[in-house]
Amino acid sequence: MKKGKSYIFLIVLLCLILVECAGDKKPTAEEEKSELIQPAKWWEKLPRPIYATLERVETSQPWFEVYQLIDDTYAIYEPYQFEEAIGYLVVGKKRAIIIDTGTGIGNLKQVVSELTQLPVSVVNTHAHWDHIGNDYQFEEIACYNHPDCISRLRSGVSNASLRRSIAEESLWKPLPEGFDPTTWTIPPVEPTSLLEEGTVINLRDRSLEVIYTPGHSPGSICLLDKQNRILFTSDTFFPGPLYAFAEDVDIDDYIASIEKLKSRLHEYDYLCSGHNDPWVKSEAISRVADGFQEIMAGKGEYKEDNGIRRYYFDGFDILVRADMIRK
Ligand SMILES: [Zn+2]
Repeated sequence: MKKGKSYIFLIVLLCLILVECAGDKKPTAEEEKSELIQPAKWWEKLPRPIYATLERVETSQPWFEVYQLIDDTYAIYEPYQFEEAIGYLVVGKKRAIIIDTGTGIGNLKQVVSELTQLPVSVVNTHAHWDHIGNDYQFEEIACYNHPDCISRLRSGVSNASLRRSIAEESLWKPLPEGFDPTTWTIPPVEPTSLLEEGTVINLRDRSLEVIYTPGHSPGSICLLDKQNRILFTSDTFFPGPLYAFAEDVDIDDYIASIEKLKSRLHEYDYLCSGHNDPWVKSEAISRVADGFQEIMAGKGEYKEDNGIRRYYFDGFDILVRADMIRK
């Protein structure tokens, strides 16, 4: 065999070996981790039962499902992307607010304009990407007065960081018409007002009180609608695996925030959460408080992978890093 031909033979042989190895390769630690956090075919459990009990409102935007929860209060749900993000339109007499703007994949402003003619401003519960995606469509944006929120809003999110969230395994319906995955970003925005603990957002006939609840992120808030006895909890509580494992989580703050919400349980009956279900009985907060206590006491059932533990409870789970748990 001539030297040139033997090189080609070696390359072909190497390729065959690589293909063979790839065929039975074990999932990487990263892939296993993501299976614990994002199960394959997560959409098979949809639709979630709660939605059959809620009043659906049709809009021109098929990417979203809209539900009227009570008068002048709508859940705007994105069921086709893994996050199952939910934003809320709260309409007052003179103006309205949108609590979080979702992933930015669909045209939220169009939906909002079909639900109210009043001026609408944004209140972000925190600045993770799946809550700020459509902020750029609105002129007024409020977030908690914390450097983490402010800097994330000012930075926006790049196409490269967003691409995994629209990969095949994260979607089960086509992306909206006109959406271009190759140019999609979350544009930077400037917050126009900064919220503090106890700030009251006045919509004239109804108001929302800001409750500072750090933990899931350093600038997380919940919003209490006292008149209607609803607490908007965003990612501090939702009926799914609570994310208490990420780099920006402070688990002690998270537990303190849940205890703070528990101490005010007499003021609300329902939770409007940031993912999955928009209408959950408030007693879940007590169970989350108990769940965290169990975890920190070294109890509770869990699966662990790559240093992440998923603890299983009734109606929710908690994801933590193993190194967060005191011995
Ligand atoms: Zn979040």
